[in-house]
Amino acid sequence: MRCPFCQAPDSRVVESRASEDQSTVRRRRECVLCQRRFTTYERVEVSPLVVVKKDRSREEFDREKVRRGIVRACEKRPISSDQIDELVDTIERELRTEFEREVLSSQVGERVMNALQSLDGVAYVRFASVYREFRDVQTFAEVILRMLSGQGTDTNDKSHE
Ligand SMILES: [Zn+2]
Repeated sequence: MRCPFCQAPDSRVVESRASEDQSTVRRRRECVLCQRRFTTYERVEVSPLVVVKKDRSREEFDREKVRRGIVRACEKRPISSDQIDELVDTIERELRTEFEREVLSSQVGERVMNALQSLDGVAYVRFASVYREFRDVQTFAEVILRMLSGQGTDTNDKSHE
């Protein structure tokens, strides 16, 4: 497996671990040249999960895309790459179990938000602000208040009306 840092063609496997449901093997590899480490996944090819976007266009579920969004939200937070990998694994596994062929992009987003919420409040708010495309301070403040009061993303606060 080619090293993503220096492009050297050889790496050695430092650790192999099967996922809980035995569907994926995760391997930690070390580049023989620059010694940096990276992770590869080996899995059985399953029928693709298609994500339906807001404009009704479709694209294949891309776990790297999900991962990038989470990494961005977790920047400078005390969250390890392993934790992020596990999060993405769980989200992907749940989506594939729950939705056989198609899933709405909003459902993917909600899933990521819920997972982040229990992991790290700051990362959650960051992700939510990008994902929900907050247009004003009001919306932003509401999410934070809900988070602080432990109500999560549920909108059960109609009592003020
Ligand atoms: Zn390398």
